[in-house]
Amino acid sequence: MNTHKAPNTEEFKVLLKKHDLKATRQRIAVHEAMLTIGHASADMVTEEIRKRGDAKVTVASVYNILSQLADIRIYHRRYSSNSKMYFDVNTFKHMHLYDRENNSYRDVLDEEFMDALYARLKRRKFKGYTIEDIDIQFICRPTAHKAKAITE
Ligand SMILES: [Zn+2]
Repeated sequence: MNTHKAPNTEEFKVLLKKHDLKATRQRIAVHEAMLTIGHASADMVTEEIRKRGDAKVTVASVYNILSQLADIRIYHRRYSSNSKMYFDVNTFKHMHLYDRENNSYRDVLDEEFMDALYARLKRRKFKGYTIEDIDIQFICRPTAHKAKAITE
């Protein structure tokens, strides 16, 4: 899929069916929470589902659903520096701005750059290895004057 959008609930149901998975209430609730949060840990998704009152879930069951969906590439995994597993609802080619103070991610889109990078990598050989994926992350911290701007 070459779009810059995560699958909506209907498209998600189709994806589940393709992988012989039932569109259970819990899986739908997980996906709808992911659509809201974007990049999230199992704790965050569980909190969001409980807030909405969509389904009865535990962190463990949410983690299992997220892992299962990542295994079949409906989500991507992200490893953050607070040693928590984060999941990304967007699986199109994109980069990330990673806020290391708040452990949050923002998508950075630059198709031209990504295409150039893939084209360049195609010409390179890494002996004994096959490149499976590219993961680019800009590590940042919030700028101090942002808080000031709000009070001015
Ligand atoms: Zn992302």
